[in-house]
Amino acid sequence: MSQIETNRLPQMTTVWQQSLNWQPDAAQEQLFQRVYQEVIEGNRQQNLTRITIPKDFWEKHLWDSLSGIVGLEQDFLAQKLQVIDIGTGAGFPGIPLAIAFPHWQITLLDSTRKKINFVNDLITKLKLNNATGIVARAEELGRIPGDRQAYDLALVRAVSKASVCAEYSLPLVKVGGLAVLYRGHWNKSDTASLKSAVARLGCKIELIYPWETPISQGVRHCIYIRKHSPTSKKFPREVGVPEKQPL
Ligand code: SAM
Repeated sequence: MSQIETNRLPQMTTVWQQSLNWQPDAAQEQLFQRVYQEVIEGNRQQNLTRITIPKDFWEKHLWDSLSGIVGLEQDFLAQKLQVIDIGTGAGFPGIPLAIAFPHWQITLLDSTRKKINFVNDLITKLKLNNATGIVARAEELGRIPGDRQAYDLALVRAVSKASVCAEYSLPLVKVGGLAVLYRGHWNKSDTASLKSAVARLGCKIELIYPWETPISQGVRHCIYIRKHSPTSKKFPREVGVPEKQPL
């Protein structure tokens, strides 16, 4: 097999359709391929991901990013949503979502400047004019008037404990908006501790959706949290406090 063939993502049209009832069009497929190539290239300069084999990258970065979102209500998805991806790293789940939903405006947030430099270069190379990377801590952004309670949808994947992710994301969500926590294994005691944390943030767990990834049958849970009243000014707490003393 040539080098070019081994570096291509697999054709997964049927799997997209059967697992998510969604599939990318040809232009989106090409952009996914570019994302893959750029992340592999970026990995030479900095540690962006350990998931580099095409099939694994497709499943664990692309499919996983879209899995918890494309099944939401069509009326909601069709709106011009303001979206924030907290702790985006190399751009997941935010970049695949910016490709899938070009009418959304997506902010990709990370506290590491090198990661955001990579993400902003990627946005420029892919000409994604609906995405912007910014360097900040979630605890800081959640206190800035233009960002606090300004987003319809906040996404957090692989950043910290669930209640920490809740404190990072929920102050940024508008009343009526939604936070989605991408989790792996999940049990009843996880639900109990998250429930009390989100109540303190003016929110309620709306749904816990169990998933299996389509190739390796990995366990996933998407936690959907709805904001029903404004978050108290006490939250988010100072930088580092949510992680040290989770709600
Ligand atoms: N979400 C990506 C993914 O699923 O591939 C990246 C996950 S990576 C393990 C966690 C990222 O969260 C890191 O890039 C880190 O810099 C960022 N992060 C951790 N705490 C943060 C905070 N309080 N504010 C902003 N970014 C944070």
